[in-house]
Amino acid sequence: MNIFVVNAGSSSIKCELINTKNKKKLSKFSVERLNSETPILKFEGKETILQGKGIEKAFPEAIEHWKSKVHEKIEVIAHRVVHGGETFFEPTIINEEVKKKISEISVLAPLHNPVNLKGIEITEQIFQNIPQVAVFDTGFHSTIPRRARLYAIPKNLTEKHHIRKYGFHGISHQYVAQKAADFLETSIKNLRLITCHLGNGCSVTAVEYGCSVETSTGMTPLEGLVMGTRSGDIDFGAAAFLAQKENLTISEMEKLLNQESGLKGLSGIGNDMRDILKAAQEGNEDARMAIQVFSHRIKKYIGAYAAIMGGVDAIIFTGGIGENSPEIRHRVCQRLDFLGAIINEDINRDNNPTPQNPVLLFSEPHSRVKLLSIFTDEQMSIALQAHELIIKNLQINKQKTIPIAVSARHIHLTQETVEALFGKDYQLTELRPLSQPGQFAAKETLTLIGPRNKIEKVRILGPCRNFNQVEISRTDEFFLGIDAPVRESGKVANSPGITLQGPMGTVTLHEGVICAWRHIHMHPDDALEFGVEDRDLVSVEVHSGEKSLTFNNVLIRVSEQFKLEMHIDTDEANAAEINQGFTGELFLTNADATLIKRK
Ligand code: ADP
Repeated sequence: MNIFVVNAGSSSIKCELINTKNKKKLSKFSVERLNSETPILKFEGKETILQGKGIEKAFPEAIEHWKSKVHEKIEVIAHRVVHGGETFFEPTIINEEVKKKISEISVLAPLHNPVNLKGIEITEQIFQNIPQVAVFDTGFHSTIPRRARLYAIPKNLTEKHHIRKYGFHGISHQYVAQKAADFLETSIKNLRLITCHLGNGCSVTAVEYGCSVETSTGMTPLEGLVMGTRSGDIDFGAAAFLAQKENLTISEMEKLLNQESGLKGLSGIGNDMRDILKAAQEGNEDARMAIQVFSHRIKKYIGAYAAIMGGVDAIIFTGGIGENSPEIRHRVCQRLDFLGAIINEDINRDNNPTPQNPVLLFSEPHSRVKLLSIFTDEQMSIALQAHELIIKNLQINKQKTIPIAVSARHIHLTQETVEALFGKDYQLTELRPLSQPGQFAAKETLTLIGPRNKIEKVRILGPCRNFNQVEISRTDEFFLGIDAPVRESGKVANSPGITLQGPMGTVTLHEGVICAWRHIHMHPDDALEFGVEDRDLVSVEVHSGEKSLTFNNVLIRVSEQFKLEMHIDTDEANAAEINQGFTGELFLTNADATLIKRK
């Protein structure tokens, strides 16, 4: 499929025509200094001054110039759209309604979304009747949990104005995280990664088992790391004080922190890291300090994100600085031994990733945490995501409905734990079979004892497994006083513990409490029919009576043992107004669901 990718920024536009089948780049061009009197078209090694200024004039002119030289067929046009707000998390086919929503979200990204929208309208006019797809830079961060995305301000204001962390550079973070998993020859769903995107804009993301769970940019791209011209984190008190002392308006302050700060402000040289590194080498103290503040901030976030994920398997550097500056990588990675990350200084100093060799491993062989520098390719990522959307949209069978079962809190135990709680050689006894073949609700129940409260008569499900796991809902978490992560069953590493009380003893688990990730069990035959694979994430529309509700990020679990069924917990059932009737361990409801999108 030939996809024309448009990456329109506030001062430049990058376009590439990519064949997504063989991942070949067929042609590219860019327009720089878009808003100056003389925008420049860069194409096939030549620079041409464009007549028109701004995206409205310069972009159509550039496309016409390109079209007169390149005659490849375009099948789909894919746009990077910076902000998807609380509406768009996944690549989306553009129609009038979608354009209207992107425009409404412009209040959250006034410098970016209007330009992106203009780009969409221009290509729509020039290439009529070619499907267009939007890929959102905030999309990858949709999985950041509430505890990480909320700011501690009055709740009514948060809700009224949609104030929260959205996170940016998601296309790049997602792309390099997947590249790292491919390089390490394992599924991204087995890895805890920290990705550092260090370009003109900079951010760090914690990618836990394939999902973004924290990122350093916030409601706007201003928060977090020191960037080319952005300050990153700053005490609002300091900003308010400065505004008062200098008599600056809010928009002047925004301009100061977004355009005059960061590396540019600290060094007094400019925003280009190459110039700052050179000046530092020549003895410029301000340049040296800029590099130190920049590197320190990245290291601080790496430590924080390792703590949040309870460990890290690989740290990845990307973007112009992350790919090209051994010095910055060295400054960030030195003395990370305590984390298990040991840099190989020689490899780091002498190498950088390239388009031909896009992954550089620069940790010691015995380093438990791998250090990688990966060549990012946002345009390729956008093209591949758009390709996947078009193909999967054709494939997903939207007709077949999926029965929904509500899973109440329950416990899985090892035989050893059963014996500690019920006595030596004790075997669980079956109360009734569950809908998933071979599984049963046991007669035995336990008391869960949390730091704050206890819950009695929690059902054990059999047969025994080779790990202990307690699955509870958000409401249970608060009642018990436990902060459990949302995980797929079996992923209990670094989850909190709990005390189990049985008739013959008490066992304190050091880990094992999770809030189960809503999921769909299916047999391989169903997976084939739905066009999905094990551990895919999908969106699902749940129908219950009159009401229908969309659940995003629903995990697909495929096994020969499974029967088609969606499992949600009691809180989610309440949200979808699915009438429970009674509270069993896992009970079927009258509601059903349809698969509407694959991530
Ligand atoms: P953008 O975020 O605009 O896509 P890039 O990812 O291209 O930007 O990164 C631009 C940054 O990368 C600039 O600050 C530039 O100085 C820096 N950079 C590029 N090459 C080098 C290098 N060899 N050493 C240090 N920094 C570099």
